[in-house]
Amino acid sequence: RYRRIVETAQEGIWQIDAEGRTTFANTRMAEMLGCTVAAMQGKSLFDFMDEEGRRIAEANLERRRQGIAEQHDFKFRRLDGGELWALLATNPITDAQGRYAGALAMVTDITDRKRMENTLRQLATQDSLTGLFNRRHFFSLAQQEFERSQRYRHPLSLLMLDLDYFKAINDTYGHQLGDQVLQAVARTIRAGLRQVDIACRYGGEEFVVLLPETTPTTALSVAQRVCAALVTAPAATTQGAVSVTVSIGVAALTDHEPLTLDGLLERADRALYAAKAAGRNRVELWSPAH
Ligand code: GH3
Ligand code: MG
Ligand code: MG
Repeated sequence: RYRRIVETAQEGIWQIDAEGRTTFANTRMAEMLGCTVAAMQGKSLFDFMDEEGRRIAEANLERRRQGIAEQHDFKFRRLDGGELWALLATNPITDAQGRYAGALAMVTDITDRKRMENTLRQLATQDSLTGLFNRRHFFSLAQQEFERSQRYRHPLSLLMLDLDYFKAINDTYGHQLGDQVLQAVARTIRAGLRQVDIACRYGGEEFVVLLPETTPTTALSVAQRVCAALVTAPAATTQGAVSVTVSIGVAALTDHEPLTLDGLLERADRALYAAKAAGRNRVELWSPAH
């Protein structure tokens, strides 16, 4: 009866010895890992993980050795290279002397749920056309950076970008190609930034970039590089390269006057307006004259 329960269970059942080698797995467990029960026998738990997984598993195993049972999500690597996201309920096994002798896990496949969570997170935080952050997520990330910079009196700069005469591009090539131009511009912007910079699609053909730990001088040169990159490498589309330029307003938090994120955005917007008025395809740094 036990054998039938174990073999018909929707849960994977996986037992390892004190060295982490497989001593038992049911058919469902092997299926989840993309192999057979026979192939799992004697194989180390670590054979089904990537580097990051191994590090996490080491810590988990340490808790098993201390006799702690727990439930957690874990990402395995299937033998075919794919990933298995699993919910693990694990219990330590002890021998007659009470020494750690291995662990037994009940494993539920939650790969679909994880994918769905991932998709939802992307939908909630990214702009679907360009893959940059959306406006809402930008505000939540930017607010944290802003407060951190103010508290520690670190420099922080902000770029506001608006494509020049974009209406004409839509009118000439059509809205769909216009969308492709927006995607290409977003790639160019992102390519000129560091990992820590926060770039978002702020509106239709407007982008905002927050540059942590960046002085206005550096921000100006970042902005000028973006302008120049678009001039030298026009937007690649399915109908060929399309020339488009951008105007950029730059504002910075430097002398730590009382200013809000909205206030900084307002300044960048004024500087952008000045860049447009001065002929477009250029960068303008906010000054009190604006
Ligand atoms: P300016 O140099 O003064 O910024 O001129 P502009 O034509 O870029 O400015 P305006 O704000 O008048 O027009 C922006 C245009 O951007 C209008 C709209 O059709 C277009 N646009 C906004 N969002 C999208 C989008 O998601 N896709 C496409 N293809 N076009 C968009
Ligand atoms: Mg605009
Ligand atoms: Mg525009």
